[in-house]
Amino acid sequence: MKPIYPGVFRSRSLFANQFILRSGEQSLVIDVGLPGFGQHLLGTIQKTGADPHTLAAILITHADGDHFGALAEIRAVNPAPVYASPQEAEAIQKGVSSRALKPRGFEKFLYSAVSPLYRPSAGVVDHLLEPGQILPFWDGLQVLDTRGHTPQHVSFFAIEHGVLFSGDSIQIARKKLLPSSGGNTWDEELAKQSFEMQLALHPAVICGGHGIWVR
Ligand SMILES: [Zn+2]
Repeated sequence: MKPIYPGVFRSRSLFANQFILRSGEQSLVIDVGLPGFGQHLLGTIQKTGADPHTLAAILITHADGDHFGALAEIRAVNPAPVYASPQEAEAIQKGVSSRALKPRGFEKFLYSAVSPLYRPSAGVVDHLLEPGQILPFWDGLQVLDTRGHTPQHVSFFAIEHGVLFSGDSIQIARKKLLPSSGGNTWDEELAKQSFEMQLALHPAVICGGHGIWVR
């Protein structure tokens, strides 16, 4: 399987991205995708040459069903510790999203069409993340406070590599970058601030929840 950046592989559950990071014997995943796609993610991990049963960590950017939905399925076969921010962890452990959606116009139709796909079961979170913390994975992954899309969304920035894992805090549409906005956004003003803060880091690669951008 071909990496999108040395040591970074993408798995997809329909429209959502999950990322598998590998360095030496260590591998971890960022987000796990829609419910029902756990086996698919485990299969992709195997294709990267990693052992899907010995992950070092599962990092979750936020509590939306397309990002944590398969968590219970993965944990059923893999005891890897799960990391999320406190507010998102609370929602994950209830199997719900961390904020209500506020669809307008066409979004109402769109959300009701895709919502059956999103219904996750509750997942376990072992470690609570704090902004600024540097996780001992992949030469150091910094936890960024990127609230706005949800109340306590976090991104992960691999400082040594300049690779940013932005979850849904950056929309990547045809090479264009935009902040999270619309009915799935908890606070558009905060979302904009989080977006600008991340661009100021000048990432070389942005691995987003629904797209990939390379400088
Ligand atoms: Zn989301």
